[in-house]
This record gives sequence, C-alpha cells and structure tokens, in this order.
Amino acid sequence: MKAEEQFVHSSGGLLLGVMGDPIAHSKSPQMHGAALQALGITGAYVPLHIASERLGDAISAIRTLGFRGVNVTIPHKVAVMEFLDQLDESAASIGAVNTIVNDGGRLTGYNTDGIGYVRSLKAEAAPELQDTRILVLGAGGAARGIIHSLLKERPAELIVANRTPDKAVQLAEEWSTLGPIRGIGLEEAPSFIEGTDLVINTTSIGMHPKVDGTPFSADLLAPGMVVSDLIYNPLETRLLREARERGCTAHGGLGMFVYQGAYALEYWTGRPAPVDAMRQAMLECMGS
Ligand code: NAP
Repeated sequence: MKAEEQFVHSSGGLLLGVMGDPIAHSKSPQMHGAALQALGITGAYVPLHIASERLGDAISAIRTLGFRGVNVTIPHKVAVMEFLDQLDESAASIGAVNTIVNDGGRLTGYNTDGIGYVRSLKAEAAPELQDTRILVLGAGGAARGIIHSLLKERPAELIVANRTPDKAVQLAEEWSTLGPIRGIGLEEAPSFIEGTDLVINTTSIGMHPKVDGTPFSADLLAPGMVVSDLIYNPLETRLLREARERGCTAHGGLGMFVYQGAYALEYWTGRPAPVDAMRQAMLECMGS
C-alpha cells in the first residue's frame, strides 16, 4: 500500500499543512496544492496559524486529525523538536525541523532545507561540488542546514563568514569532524573570494524591501565563479545581477524553496515530486 493510501482510508484524502506564525504569506499551500493536483492525489495542504504556546497541542492534533505530515516554519523550527517521537540524523545535527512525517501516530522530524538547497544547486548551477572551495556568508538557521549538506559533498574547503564572528567559529568547531570547515568574521570575507569556486549568501542582505543591499562588492568576482543567494524575493538579487554581469553563474533561492518542498512531499507520498509544476506554481504566486 502506498503511503498516501493509508491516509485516504482515515480521512478521505491526504491531509498536509504548514505550521507557522505568521502563516498567511506562506506560498507552500499553493506550491503543494499544485503538486497534489499534478500527482492526481486527492487531499489538501492547509496553512495552520499556530502561536508558540499552542505548539504542543497543535503537534498532538496532527495525530488526532490524521495528518500525514506538516511543514514547520518560523518561529517553530527549533521548538517543535521536543514534541516529536524521533528525529532524523540531519535534523538532530542541524538542530531544526522543517518537515514532520506521521507514520501511524509516530512523528519523525526531518530537515529538508539543506538537502533541498544542494539538490537545487547541483541541478541548476554546479553539478560537481567535490574538491571545490566554498565561501558561505552568514551562520543563521538556513546556513546551518545548507552547510551540513554541503560538507557531505566533500569540498576541499568551506569557509563560513558571519557578522557575529563567534557564531561562525563555533559552528566550524561543532562540525569540524564533518569536513574542512573554518569560521571567520564577515569583514574578512572579501579577502577569501579570490580563488573561491562558489560564494553563497545566506544573510538577508538584498532581500525585499531593501533590494539595493549587497553583501560585498561585485568587483571581487571573477568570471566562471558560481554565486548563489538563498533569497528568492526578489528572484534576482542585486548580488546575482552583478555576478551575472561579470560572467559568473548566478543561482537564486527559488530552487531551494521548491526542492525543500519536493523532499517533504516525497517523504509523505513515497512518489517523485512534480518539481516543474511546483516551480511554476511558485512563479505564478510571485507574479512572474
Ligand atoms: P537567521 O537565522 O535570522 O540568520 C540571519 C543571518 O544573516 C545571520 O548570519 C546574520 O548574522 C546575518 N545578517 C542579517 N542581517 C545582516 C546584516 N545587515 N549584515 C550582515 N549580516 C546579517 O535567518 P535564516 O533563517 O538563516 O534566513 C537567512 C536568509 O535565507 C533570509 O534571507 C531568508 O529569506 C533566506 N532563506 C531562504 C530559503 C529558501 O528556501 N530559499 C529558506 C530559508 C531561508 P548575525 O549572526 O551576526 O546576526
């Protein structure tokens, strides 16, 4: 029996959703709605506005109501962990959960942000990451997920540069056994750009509405480098536009969003996600 069929019996359809606060702005319902339709699965993916003090009740309700799974977004990605029955190894190591799978009342937490990012990066910009030199700007929640996944690709070196240098240094110490990682202050980053194969912005610099912001001068970029930005609003940040103009390969954040959702859907349904339909739904939501 396919995973989704078990839940069709109990609920008349596959029940999915996303928990956050706020949640009205989330584009996940449209993206997953399009995915369910493309797969021909009867079901619903609903936005769930959950205040922090009700998070435990909301997680219990997943079991009661027979949800097959939910995504978890800001501000619950860390707090939700204590209410789950088990954590996938990556989610435990990253310290955050964005996807919950309900197997007959047993809830498992996963983190698909990092693996979603790497799948998007390899599909759209940099098919081979082994032995590359990587510079990651920022050491927040999103950076933890993507660095964890990037280290599994066996880069020659990964430097993480953060405004609060201690956070980058601590992260590098915590994961020193996973690969060649080093933490520095953000102001040191420009001197490391030369010779780097891949520069990734995980800070919010350049995000809507402050679209004129950029984390460093594009003069430092050389043709052939891959420049990646986790931001997807706007679809092309100033950093990416300037990188493209200098002959770099530019990689935006939309693919990460699509693929983190694709992995979640694959965990819930056991079927390959209709990635093109999901991306198209996102582009329509964003008015492109
Ligand atoms: P977060 O946990 O709050 O971390 C923010 C990071 O940005 C920290 O490293 C912070 O440095 C740095 N930062 C913020 N403002 C800065 C500034 N003015 N100058 C220098 N550094 C600054 O946020 P997050 O969840 O990691 O999200 C970061 C970005 O990724 C956001 O733009 C978000 O939209 C994007 N994102 C995209 C996806 C996707 O699917 N494409 C998914 C998740 C996140 P300090 O540590 O010094 O504060």
